[in-house]
Amino acid sequence: MPTLGNPTGTIEILKKYNFNFQKRFGQNFLIDSHILEKIVDAAEITKDDCVLEIGPGIGTMTQYLAESAGEVIAVEIDKSLIPILADTLSPYDNVTVINEDILKVDIRKLVEEKNQGRPIKVVANLPYYITTPIIMGLFESHVPLKSITIMVQKEVADRMQVGPGTKDYGALSLAVQYYAKPKVVTYVSPECFIPKPNVGSAVIRLERYAEPPVEVKDEAFMFKVIRAAFNQRRKTLANGLGNASDLPVTRQQAQDALEALGFSASIRGEALTLEEFAKLSNYLLEQ
Ligand code: SAM
Repeated sequence: MPTLGNPTGTIEILKKYNFNFQKRFGQNFLIDSHILEKIVDAAEITKDDCVLEIGPGIGTMTQYLAESAGEVIAVEIDKSLIPILADTLSPYDNVTVINEDILKVDIRKLVEEKNQGRPIKVVANLPYYITTPIIMGLFESHVPLKSITIMVQKEVADRMQVGPGTKDYGALSLAVQYYAKPKVVTYVSPECFIPKPNVGSAVIRLERYAEPPVEVKDEAFMFKVIRAAFNQRRKTLANGLGNASDLPVTRQQAQDALEALGFSASIRGEALTLEEFAKLSNYLLEQ
């Protein structure tokens, strides 16, 4: 049975190891068993699953995952947490803890070694300072994935779900919606963590599509177009694309492409849907 996931058990462990929270690592540990159960339920973990947990902390969610999953791989950057994890996870023989920066781990290789390349599930209460690079890295490097169930800052969860015409719409919305179907599981108050974060949080589940919802000739090229469109949000899309150093497209070519596809030459990137970005990047590639 999990011994953490409540204030008493957590404070006891923190005191035993004289643990000092590191703000730079985004350390806010969950102390609410209802939220932990909701996360594990939403991830639909079974004994057939290999789960990657990013940032296990003192092992709170790891204990819940170890109870339900066949195998858990937990990657933690803070070396002072490693002896604590050895203690809190000692009852479980299906957990491997890796002391590394997740952004430096070759996750595809890890999945190959630990799960013979079969798709894994990612479950995490993410360090908020690197939410976007973690998610983009998982998708863009084509890690074999079934789903990602993560705690993120509430605003980031909102950004993942919105469409064109809202201020939150951007490269993250498009990337998430190209690769996965997003669904908010629950909103979480700062009271559920120690220490309390100064932002609201949300658990979101991203279910990986078997096939992307739009047809794209060159994914990497489309995401360059998308990044260029939102890097210079206030500029017209044609200017944004013309100015991007990593795109071999001039402002005139971008304008011609937009007109050929029936858009106004002065349209901004934030007005285009995923399908329209796909059409635009396919057209630019052909030219
Ligand atoms: N999973 C724990 C929980 O729910 O109580 C802790 C979550 S806490 C929000 C984020 C965790 O990610 C911390 O343990 C932190 O040290 C770890 N972390 C931060 N940056 C990391 C990185 N680059 N790679 C791996 N772990 C990281």
